[in-house]
Amino acid sequence: MRILLVEDELKIAQFITQGLTEIGYVVNHGEDGRAGRDLTDTYKYDLIILDIMLPKISGLELLKHIRSVKITTPVLLLTARDTVEDRVRGLDLGADDYLVKPFAFSELMARLRALQRRPPLQFSTILKVGDLVMDTVKREIYRGDRAIVLSPLEYNLLEYLMRNCDRALSRTQIGERIWELDFCSNSNVVDVYIGYLRRKIDKGYAQALIYTIRGVGYCLKTPSID
Ligand code: CA
Repeated sequence: MRILLVEDELKIAQFITQGLTEIGYVVNHGEDGRAGRDLTDTYKYDLIILDIMLPKISGLELLKHIRSVKITTPVLLLTARDTVEDRVRGLDLGADDYLVKPFAFSELMARLRALQRRPPLQFSTILKVGDLVMDTVKREIYRGDRAIVLSPLEYNLLEYLMRNCDRALSRTQIGERIWELDFCSNSNVVDVYIGYLRRKIDKGYAQALIYTIRGVGYCLKTPSID
């Protein structure tokens, strides 16, 4: 398992490299965007951990380059606390997940494990769950033959659910991801927006895709074939 870490803050780079090396991963470290690009152009990696704020070439520019040359390696972005737009842009550019600094090593490991489990289809720009299809380049959504029009927030929420399909997501996870960082779990905004999505995605169909996971949150499920 070979991991590329592109991170200019040496303390963080050391912390991640040491932790991953100790459990048997091979870690290459690029200390700026250009070094990262040289490494991705030269070697094949199983996972890429990419800081957004990098000297020379930014993390998002590097991500754009990686996807433009058809490298489908899962990318986990590292971001600072106040860069919601960057994260949304990163996901639009083909990042698979992100982690907000500072984070615990165990949290990083959990994200990396989840990325390794994810089927290759999900790295595509076309996301499919049952007959629900999202084209993340054209930002178009279809269920069967029917086009579905979503607001930008509904779209971001649905993309997050689709990229994590068959995985239960807590209201806090969803809230932090879609609505800023210090998400107040007393807010019912997640439930409200799930309601909007259900009306557009599931209403009138025999097979529902959005499920409530009692005591946790929500899950977009792949319909079972039977
Ligand atoms: Ca940085």
